[in-house]
Amino acid sequence: MNTLKKTSRITSDMVPFFDLKAQYLSIKDDIDSAIKDVIDSGWFILGKKGEVFEAEFASYIGSRHAIGVGSGTEALHMGLLSLGIGQGDKVITTPNTAIPTVSAIRFAGAVPLFVDIDPKTYTMSAQALEGCLSKRDRKAKAIIVVHLFGQPAFLDPIIEIARRYDVKIIEDCAQSHGALYKGKKTGSIGDIGAFSFYPTKNVGAYGDGGLCTTNNDEIAERLRLLRNYGQKDRYHAAIEGYNSRLDELQAGILSVKLKKLDGWNERRRQLAALYTSLLDPSKADTPFEVASARHVYHLYVIRHKKRDGLMAHLKDRGIATLIHYPIPIH
Ligand SMILES: *Cc1c(COP(=O)(O)O)cnc(C)c1O
Repeated sequence: MNTLKKTSRITSDMVPFFDLKAQYLSIKDDIDSAIKDVIDSGWFILGKKGEVFEAEFASYIGSRHAIGVGSGTEALHMGLLSLGIGQGDKVITTPNTAIPTVSAIRFAGAVPLFVDIDPKTYTMSAQALEGCLSKRDRKAKAIIVVHLFGQPAFLDPIIEIARRYDVKIIEDCAQSHGALYKGKKTGSIGDIGAFSFYPTKNVGAYGDGGLCTTNNDEIAERLRLLRNYGQKDRYHAAIEGYNSRLDELQAGILSVKLKKLDGWNERRRQLAALYTSLLDPSKADTPFEVASARHVYHLYVIRHKKRDGLMAHLKDRGIATLIHYPIPIH
């Protein structure tokens, strides 16, 4: 068929792992006009599109502030710095995550400590967290909870433990845009939510981008300084900062895509439900959905006893798969 020929650039990948071209074609007019607006305006960094997108995103998530930054990694890194995490401090996270969760801890000069995941949800085990924090030499200042694959971590016990040990919480929401935990959006619950707009995320830019959400005015103020050379006023640096901003082109593109997010997530959920209904539970561990949460299926991840054989079988039929993640970070 004609259409098939046009969209499959990689012929061995008849069902590619993702297809950003198809998504673009479905929103082409709005994207093109957003890009043209920015170029016509002649203003590319920290301008109106960014402000509009930050307001839209804060309102979507239900947090007081949204601060656009250069990437998800930078959202985590500067998020840690804005909480006062620095040289030698300990930060707890899970090793079954994308590498940047841990790179960000090291960029802040801090030391990552790993705790295990819950085998059903693949997110942080509250029991393991408590076990770690209760050891004297493992006293951490912050934790990064990863809402992995789009599944919100089971936050209630984690928050209770974190409060008891006076530990700050960053939610790594790079894979969970729009996911709900007990009716609240991920990114609105901890001290900071760190989002990535890497092109393949549930909301993706056409380049790099990221964002921090917070309800705390001081943290928001510090993040605004950190992302822009530490400058309060032009050429007056209040603190040592970075160059890590969400640019106007990306913000304009993301405003268009944010309006589509709920529909796209719903479609992901429908497809996930279809896969789960068709897979034999005695052969494949399909994703577990926590009743009080809304999984947004950034990835549909299963466990299978004959994983490599299954991958080869699917590849033969033109269906692309990947392993998330082949090497645990520890
Ligand atoms: C993608 C991702 C990041 C990093 O985001 P970038 O925008 O690529 O820097 C961090 N954590 C997780 C869990 C991710 O999936």
